[in-house]
Amino acid sequence: MKSIKGITFIFASIAITLYAWISAGATRNITAGLALTTLSLTFMLATRVKLLEKWFNGIEKMYFYHKLMAVFSVILLVMHHKSKGFGLWSERIPARLGDIAIYLFISVVIVAYISKKLKYETWRWIHRIVFIAYIIGLWHGFTYSRKAFTSVNLLSLVIGVYAVLGLVSGIYIIFLYQKIGFKNNGKIVSVKRLNHDTTELEIELDKNFDYRYGQFAFIKIFQEGFEKAPHPFSISGGKGNKIFFTIKNSGDYTSDIYQNLKEGTKVKIDRAYGHMLLEKGKEKQIWIAGGIGVTPFISYIRENEKIDGNIDFYYAYRGEENAVHIDMMKQFAQKNPNFKLNLVDSKVSGYLNFDNYKLENGTTVFMCGPVKMMDNFANVFNKLNSTVELVYEGFKFK
Ligand SMILES: Cc1cc2nc3c(=O)[nH]c(=O)nc-3n(C[C@H](O)[C@H](O)[C@H](O)COP(=O)(O)OP(=O)(O)OC[C@H]3O[C@@H](n4cnc5c(N)ncnc54)[C@H](O)[C@@H]3O)c2cc1C
Repeated sequence: MKSIKGITFIFASIAITLYAWISAGATRNITAGLALTTLSLTFMLATRVKLLEKWFNGIEKMYFYHKLMAVFSVILLVMHHKSKGFGLWSERIPARLGDIAIYLFISVVIVAYISKKLKYETWRWIHRIVFIAYIIGLWHGFTYSRKAFTSVNLLSLVIGVYAVLGLVSGIYIIFLYQKIGFKNNGKIVSVKRLNHDTTELEIELDKNFDYRYGQFAFIKIFQEGFEKAPHPFSISGGKGNKIFFTIKNSGDYTSDIYQNLKEGTKVKIDRAYGHMLLEKGKEKQIWIAGGIGVTPFISYIRENEKIDGNIDFYYAYRGEENAVHIDMMKQFAQKNPNFKLNLVDSKVSGYLNFDNYKLENGTTVFMCGPVKMMDNFANVFNKLNSTVELVYEGFKFK
């Protein structure tokens, strides 16, 4: 299990919190105390910091545990509210603060689960209300359990450390990340429309950009009319201070890129993320790309002359009009006999199928494409040979 360090961190945080409340003989408020720790973890897991990304093996896993901690916190808060016998709207002001915090938390968690219908930007703004609820919750805890917060013992230390970590994480991700997290400034030097819906951007940065083939980055585009939120895209090539993104029109922002983006526009990029590191695969590899999920593989093909191991590459798309960079792939395959190119047009030959595939021991399978496709293939590969290493990434982490 590659997120082992991250999961241990969560369990250790929970264990030390329980121990601190029990050893202080303050079990009456233990559920609320635990909720303060799990809320602090919820904020930490939204920060995209490198250390946590490493511990959890990718920011999409961080987001998964972020959601889990948020739901767990709400359950704890409801338990706390019930155990105190509070009604829907309390009499006393400090208890009312607790009511407000709980209602805000519950509303945001519900919105997060029905958010598919909301615009991503709207959802992001609503999401931030949780930070106000967290501050109100801390204030409520402070007014009710002042002793637990202010005495000098393990309990106040645990409460203090997690409160500071939660507050700093919230302030960082809401107010600072957009300003200080994007350290790479650049401009778009070329905008190429590759087909009817896909654009390729070539960007020149003010300094060299460090990434591994298979990784992605968040980009902010400073052209009038463009949404301000950074969007994630796989890096589809580049060396030194040059970087490419290949972007399919799939919503407001990406359609703006296809239709309106101009050369010369200024951009900012944060850093490279992601655990799908193509160079870290074993000698024998299988690459599977579905649709625009081909972009992380393009970076390797674009920037390398020769491959060392053996790669079977499957690129699945629906109709040749939807495929990109097929010529580049064919040229790469000609130079590299160990690179077996399989172009699978589902309009012609149906969906890819690995049910009878001879999967050798010591193979790494890299996949990027629709989540359903990858889950299905992961099941098939696990049944065929449980020793293979499966590394895959979807283009979604809401
Ligand atoms: C790790 C990763 C790598 C990706 N690489 C590529 C790529 O190489 N090429 C490509 O074409 N697409 C890629 N995507 C998908 C791309 O980020 C979305 O298609 C794009 O952000 C959609 O924005 P929109 O406004 O056009 O569409 P919308 O309809 O607004 O959004 C569609 C979906 O995209 C996601 N999304 C939207 N905005 C954001 C945001 N600011 N941050 C995170 N997710 C968001 C949400 O899940 C949303 O439901 C990648 C996504 C991820 C997570």
